[in-house]
Amino acid sequence: MTDRSAARVAAVNKAKSEPLVLLADDDPTVRLLATRALSAAGFRVHAVGDGALAITAFDQLQPDCVIVDVQMPEIDGLAVCRHVRQSDRPNVPILVLTGQEDVESLHRAYDAGATDFVNKPMRWPVLPYRLQYLLRSAALTDELRISRHRTQTLLDGMPDQMFVLDSRGMLIEEVNRSETGGSATFLLGSGRCIEDILPPDVARVARENLHVVLATGQPQTFEFQTESGRRSSEVRFLAQPSGKVLTIVRDVSQRYHAEERIRHLAYFDGVTGLPNRQLFVRELRRAMRQGKRQGRLVAVLYVDLDRFKRINDTLGHSVGDALLKSVANRLAEGVRPTDYVAKAGDADNMAVQLARLGGDEFVALLTDIGSHDQIGVVVDRIRTSLTAPFSYEGRQFVITPSIGVAVYPADGNDVETLLMHADTAMYQAKDAGRNTVRFYEKAMNARALDRLDLEDALRIAIEKQELRLFYQPKFSLETEMVTGAEALLRWQHPERGWISPAQFIPLAEETGLIVPLGAWVIEEACRTLRSWQNGPLADLKVAINLSAEQVARTNVAELVLQSLWRNGLRPQQLELEITESLLMRDIDTAKAMLCTLKDAGVSLAIDDFGTGYSSLSYLRQFPLDSLKIDRSFVLNLHNDPDDAAICAAIIAMAKKLGLKTVAEGIELEQQRQFLRAAGCDEGQGYLFARPMAANDLQELLQMPRLRRGTHDE
Ligand code: C2E
Ligand code: MG
Ligand code: MG
Repeated sequence: MTDRSAARVAAVNKAKSEPLVLLADDDPTVRLLATRALSAAGFRVHAVGDGALAITAFDQLQPDCVIVDVQMPEIDGLAVCRHVRQSDRPNVPILVLTGQEDVESLHRAYDAGATDFVNKPMRWPVLPYRLQYLLRSAALTDELRISRHRTQTLLDGMPDQMFVLDSRGMLIEEVNRSETGGSATFLLGSGRCIEDILPPDVARVARENLHVVLATGQPQTFEFQTESGRRSSEVRFLAQPSGKVLTIVRDVSQRYHAEERIRHLAYFDGVTGLPNRQLFVRELRRAMRQGKRQGRLVAVLYVDLDRFKRINDTLGHSVGDALLKSVANRLAEGVRPTDYVAKAGDADNMAVQLARLGGDEFVALLTDIGSHDQIGVVVDRIRTSLTAPFSYEGRQFVITPSIGVAVYPADGNDVETLLMHADTAMYQAKDAGRNTVRFYEKAMNARALDRLDLEDALRIAIEKQELRLFYQPKFSLETEMVTGAEALLRWQHPERGWISPAQFIPLAEETGLIVPLGAWVIEEACRTLRSWQNGPLADLKVAINLSAEQVARTNVAELVLQSLWRNGLRPQQLELEITESLLMRDIDTAKAMLCTLKDAGVSLAIDDFGTGYSSLSYLRQFPLDSLKIDRSFVLNLHNDPDDAAICAAIIAMAKKLGLKTVAEGIELEQQRQFLRAAGCDEGQGYLFARPMAANDLQELLQMPRLRRGTHDE
């Protein structure tokens, strides 16, 4: 080695802080010459004369590389090699020195772990070069090993399972051993092919994907579920340059369940778990297509629960929901296939599917019907399933259904028409007195149209202001003087004449028209009050009826206070009549609204008391002034002791709560006398006066002394 080249190696070694070489040879000349060459090149050298010393030095000095003579007495170079390889630094490069002809020991040296060899005698100046490249490649190998270890750790830490399949679909290599892989673990097991480890239908899909990835080189992805459906995996096939296929199996159960849940939310009703309208319509469409192909009937049974809204409004949604759930269960139980197929006596395939369309509306879809009789059987099953009263928290509820039936193809050729006709039939059933069934007839449609007509007409009436307010005075039962008047809506229809508010208020509530209508009533009553301001009626208190739907949809308090202010009126001149259902519907909102109005000075009355929930203790929490006893109790007061007792009890209890009592619908002198004796404060009814136009009321009240009986229309 020239001085210059030794210096070059020395520079490299210096940068690496002079690697330490352990040199073991029993020949002192070799030790001397090698040490000199290596030192000149910047290596530190520790030279020993036998194997035992070499082993000790290796353990103690931790050299960067080892040069060892194969043949040494006692412990030879092979033993040193083995020792190094079994030590805690097994990757240290070992250069063995062998005799020129000693091919046999060369083999054994590699077996024992040698990295490279040089023949003796050698040109010593070459040794540092040899060593330097040995160290460099050892360093590279080290890096590679570390990086592979890191990669493997990463792969093993992945939740995915990875393995390699050959082109025949045989599992030939595991890429990782995922600890969290869970679902896919069963795929592993070498020597097996796709068909051995997957259920047949999944294996078929896997095989198809494998073909595609092999043919096109494009990655392929598919999913499958375990038979129980509880776990779900996504499989990805990625083509490898070697013609093999890297397979990644990912557990996607969580995502799958989330998607399932979303699907469920989109297609099933949260309260009852039944399919919702969307799913139902889809199923109906499918059933109709199939019915058409097979020439079979399809029936839609619209089931509406009578008076359910009342339960919901008065007892709250949690009771309502619980009942809906029980109803759904009973219906499902009632239409179980085994039962009705046997009953229908027809060994065919009629199937029944239930759905909840919203609110208290359920629907049953009957497919593959052979004869109309079968529909009747299902209708009967539905009705009987609901016969027994429902109980909830100690209360009993009787729930009866009104059922409307429409049959494909006779009653409608498309989903919309069939549904509409079933709905029409259901309304007919309701009109016929509830707890009834009606099959759709063409004539019904005319009546449904009638209803639509009325709705349109009401819309126009509001726009054209065809509506008017009548006023019915209230009298003190004690003095028989007028104490106020109730504003009652009247509608004069151009063709139908007078239409009762009892008929159009519910319609207005259903259609939302109650909002403009209610606002108009408030403003109109206030305008009338203002027009009376300078006459004898200046102090008259006027009562306005509020509907629950109106309160739910508008800020009534604000509407009322603005109207009063706009018309320059005192709040004390206004009273509002509300029903119990309004209070039960959304207690907090109702309370807030009533408090605002009460604080402003408006009076509040409970209307139609006795027809709803009728709990006086419940009413105590609202800031009420008076209570109006429903006309139905007053009606038979004089000849029904029960009604008389109820009236008396209501009056007595109301007094205890500090509420004024007003009896509605007094038509007879005996009724008046009884009520007065029972302590009722005021009365309203045909006996005193009927509802009348504002002008008529003004005229009436100008009479010097108001006496009952003289003011009837
Ligand atoms: P309501 O508030 O209980 O009004 C009393 C009803 O009893 C009125 O019927 C009135 O004409 C009637 N009536 C009064 N005295 C007698 C009597 O001696 N004998 C008989 N048979 N009936 C009597 P009307 O005007 O047909 O109103 C019916 C219902 O429509 C009202 O019951 C009220 O709930 C509702 N309503 C009327 N106007 C409005 C309104 O402006 N807004 C709202 N939301 N509802 C209204
Ligand atoms: Mg009223
Ligand atoms: Mg009333």
